[in-house]
Amino acid sequence: MTSLNPVRGTQDILPEEGRLYRRVEETAFEVAERYGFGEITTPIFEFTEVFSRTLGDTSDIVTKEMYTFEDKGGDQITLRPEGTAGVARAFISNGLQQNLPLKLFYRGPMFRYERPQKGRRRQFRQVGVEILGVATPQADIETISIAQTFLEELGLKDYIKLELNSLGDTDSRSAYCDELVKYLSDHQDKLSKDSLERLDRNPMRILDSKDEGDQAVVVDAPRLQDNLNEASQSFFEDLCEGLTKLGIVFEHNTNLVRGLDYYCHTAFEFKTSDLGAQGTVLAGGRYDGLVGQMGGPETPGIGWAAGVERLSLLLDDGAEAKRPIAVIPVGGKAESEAMVVTEMLRKKGYRVDLGYSGNLKKRMKRANRLNAVAAVLLGEDELTRNVGTLRNMDSGEQKEVSLETLEDHLALYK
Ligand code: ATP
Ligand code: MG
Repeated sequence: MTSLNPVRGTQDILPEEGRLYRRVEETAFEVAERYGFGEITTPIFEFTEVFSRTLGDTSDIVTKEMYTFEDKGGDQITLRPEGTAGVARAFISNGLQQNLPLKLFYRGPMFRYERPQKGRRRQFRQVGVEILGVATPQADIETISIAQTFLEELGLKDYIKLELNSLGDTDSRSAYCDELVKYLSDHQDKLSKDSLERLDRNPMRILDSKDEGDQAVVVDAPRLQDNLNEASQSFFEDLCEGLTKLGIVFEHNTNLVRGLDYYCHTAFEFKTSDLGAQGTVLAGGRYDGLVGQMGGPETPGIGWAAGVERLSLLLDDGAEAKRPIAVIPVGGKAESEAMVVTEMLRKKGYRVDLGYSGNLKKRMKRANRLNAVAAVLLGEDELTRNVGTLRNMDSGEQKEVSLETLEDHLALYK
């Protein structure tokens, strides 16, 4: 073994943090169910083609970030870098086109080989939704509104901002690309090395560049929004109108493009200013060509994914854990009786801690550290009378209670 540290960019999730992650994932799932989504779980690895053919040979994910290996049977396998391609593959493999429109939710780990930073890891978790089979902006509105509700339920309403753009349909996009390339070619000397590479393969990505020199060039670039054909324009107008009707506030960011090739029409991101360069917490868009491109029946789709770690960084842990009840035996003979009482309470649904050893003082300290709401002290003498002492850990108030009625007294703390 070379090292006992986890591999760079991966981490062990300890209980405290795990609780936050679970809150994010369960909130997402609960909201998704309310909006009529069912959960799908696809494998965390797929044939490499599932991603390379759909994400586009020029995307950062495919060119730089995939964990790909040959397995013992000689198959090219990739740990999934995102969820949509796998869902689209599952849609085709399972013949789900009979069930359209389809609303699916997913959660789970994703893998990307990138430079680890706060909110950027090589193994990270996403929650996401997809709507398949709806070509009208209704699905775009619903998809964005579920995202908004999800983030609101996490208490993030005041920390996030929705940015929206239209990438247009295929015709608009290719007409625009030609113009953009013409403009950028005239400014090649000012573009970064990365962007020069993108110029041939994926010029729209340059709009999204974080390089300052690129950004200066992009400011005066022709704008996609001026090149949208009528159909694309009215699609976008309907979307904006629908969102406004639902009270969803957004900003039209004309430079917002998504990193993957399969997007069209709607692209959106929920951003926060609190996480530096990792400010995008939830991102999505429409991908009408994806399923067809994979070899399935032409099926429109739209969805989003959110980074669970990034969202967790924005949550405060305040009063997160449910407070336990501490059962504290005082004296050796009380130990086994304490176990019986503990077990009885746990079976009734209480969260109970029974320290394994130590004197009263040590055990009280443990109860405090666990933020116990109450303690049940069981002394040897008391047990002969079948009573114990119930202590309110906040007020310090104590009273003797019969063990038979213990549960009635504890109901207050459940
Ligand atoms: P970025 O611009 O930050 O690299 P992205 O465009 O690659 O984001 P998406 O592919 O849209 O991200 O993924 C959706 C969400 O998943 C992101 O908004 C982010 O919250 C989260 N995410 C993406 N990559 C990572 C990562 N390496 N570590 C943690 N979270 C991530
Ligand atoms: Mg990325």
